Amino acid sequence: MPVEKTEVLVVGAGQAGIAMSEHLRAYGIKHVVLERSRIAERWRSCRWDSLVANGPAWHDRFPGLDFSEDGPDDFVPKERVADYLADYASVIEAPIRCGVEVKEVRRNVGRTGFEVETSEGVIEPKP
Ligand SMILES: Cc1cc2nc3c(=O)[nH]c(=O)nc-3n(C[C@H](O)[C@H](O)[C@H](O)COP(=O)(O)OP(=O)(O)OC[C@H]3O[C@@H](n4cnc5c(N)ncnc54)[C@H](O)[C@@H]3O)c2cc1C
Repeated sequence: MPVEKTEVLVVGAGQAGIAMSEHLRAYGIKHVVLERSRIAERWRSCRWDSLVANGPAWHDRFPGLDFSEDGPDDFVPKERVADYLADYASVIEAPIRCGVEVKEVRRNVGRTGFEVETSEGVIEPKP
């Protein structure tokens, strides 16, 4: 199977992966974000149903996008936090591939860098 090349590979499309993607895009760095499930999956299915964000919307939002259904002082329920993160990823056109799991990250032998084995093949980020 051919090895796909990219400059940077980000594992996970949660809050951190989406933020990382935004910064990489701002610097014009080619990258791919691999998400084994759905964007913000941990907020959707790995939290108590009653969870709300522990900070107000004005505090928890990313720059440039407000929570559409919630006021700035509201504590946003987890499903809408997940929706927000997915919306934000869409707005910034984050190159996220959902349903792709990272299985293993191996250090290259005899040269710098790493090789990433995923459920859909091997990707080699730039060393
Ligand atoms: C109970 C709780 C409440 C919190 N409340 C708040 C809050 O109110 N406000 C706030 O700002 N922060 C809050 N946080 C902290 C933080 O914002 C969240 O934990 C946030 O989800 C962390 O984002 P993350 O991207 O680091 O990790 P995660 O959200 O865990 O995202 C990681 C992603 O990576 C994916 N992934 C994992 N392994 C692989 C793999 N091998 N291959 C491909 N994909 C993979 C997962 O499916 C997941 O989507 C809270 C945390 C907890 C635990």
